[in-house]
Amino acid sequence: MEISPEILNLKPYVPGKPIEETKREYGLSEVYKLASNENANGPSKKVLEAIVKASAEIHRYPDPGFYELRKKFAEVFYSKESQITFGNGSNELIDLLIRIFCAPGSSILTLEAAFVAYKICAQAARVKTDFVPLDRQSLKVSVEELLLAWKPEHKIVFIPNPNNPTGTYFDQKEMEKIIHFFGNRDDVLLVFDEAYVEYARSPQYVSALKYREQYKNLVVLRTLSKAYGLAGLRIGSVFADEEVIELIDRIRNPFNVNSLAQAAALAAVDDKEYIESSVKNNSEGLEFFYNEFTKAGISYWESQANFVLFDCQKDAGPVIEALLQRGVIVRPVGNYGFPNFIRLSVGTKLENEIAAKNIIEILKA
Ligand SMILES: *Cc1c(COP(=O)(O)O)cnc(C)c1O
Repeated sequence: MEISPEILNLKPYVPGKPIEETKREYGLSEVYKLASNENANGPSKKVLEAIVKASAEIHRYPDPGFYELRKKFAEVFYSKESQITFGNGSNELIDLLIRIFCAPGSSILTLEAAFVAYKICAQAARVKTDFVPLDRQSLKVSVEELLLAWKPEHKIVFIPNPNNPTGTYFDQKEMEKIIHFFGNRDDVLLVFDEAYVEYARSPQYVSALKYREQYKNLVVLRTLSKAYGLAGLRIGSVFADEEVIELIDRIRNPFNVNSLAQAAALAAVDDKEYIESSVKNNSEGLEFFYNEFTKAGISYWESQANFVLFDCQKDAGPVIEALLQRGVIVRPVGNYGFPNFIRLSVGTKLENEIAAKNIIEILKA
C-alpha cells in the first residue's frame, strides 16, 4: 500500500508521562505530575455532581446539536448561539479547521515554538506549516515579522495567546495590529487559540473574543481542559462567524462530544468559585516558582499561563531523568527547539514545593 510521505514522516504528539506508568517504571509510590498543564485543584464538586446526574442517561446518544451548551456559552461568553460549536478537545477543532480551509499542498502560518498540534494536524492533512521566528531572549515574536511572513498560500494563521510552551503573549496593541491586518479578508482565517485565557494576568492582555463579531474571518478557540479542569473529558469550544460554524458542524462527527463532557462543561462554566480559586492557586504557584528560581539563580520566563519555562543552562535530558527518579514529572521542550529548557506546570502548594526543591538540588549538584 502506498502511504504519503507526510504521514510516514509525521512525528506524533508526545504527551506528558502518565502517573501510573512512572510509578511502575521507577518503582515509586508517590508521583507528582507537573507536565501537562492540568488543573492541580482536581475537578469541581459541582461538575462531579452534574456528571453523576448525567450518567443515568449514558445509554442515550449525546445531543449532537449542543442545544443547552450553545445557550449556556452564548450567555456566559456574551456571544451568539449560532456562532459557537464544540469539539472533542480544542485539538479536534484545530484539525477540523485545517481540513475545511486548507487544501492538500497549501500552508498554515504560526509562530516558532507555538503549540505543536497545529503542525501535526496540518501535516496529517498534507498541509505545510511555516513558522515566524521568535526572539531567543524574550521568546516573543514581533508583530512586524509576523505580518511580513504571511503569504497568500497561508490559508490559516494560528496564534496561541498566551502561547504554550513559552508562556508569552501578544498584548492588546499587538493583537489589534494583527487583527487589523488580517481581519475581514476572504483569503485567510485568523485563529486565536486561547487555551490559557483564564490565567492571563497582565493588564495588557485582552481576549480576541472582544473583536470576534467585527471580523468574519476571526476565530477564537477555547478549551475546558485547563482552568476548568476537564482535560480527561475532552471538550473545547470555537467562536466564529456562522459560515465557519456551519462548515465545522457539517464535517464533524455528529456525536464528537460525549454526554458526560457536555453535562460537565455546562456546570463548569457556571462554577465561578472554582475558576477563581484555580486562578488564585496559579498566581501563588507562579510567584513561588519565580522567587525560588530567582534565589537559586535559575533563569525563567514570566508566564501568562499555568506553567513556567526555565533554563537548565545544559541539556535538560539528564535533569528530567533525575526528576523522574524522584517522582517529579516535567515536560521536555527539545521538540520546540529548546533542548536546555524545561516546562513546569503549576501544581498544588505541596507539589510546587517538592518540584522546586528537587529542581534546585539537581541543578546545583
Ligand atoms: C492544552 C492546549 C490546548 C487544549 O487542547 P485540548 O484538546 O482542548 O485539551 C489547546 N491549545 C494550546 C495552546 C494548549 O496548550
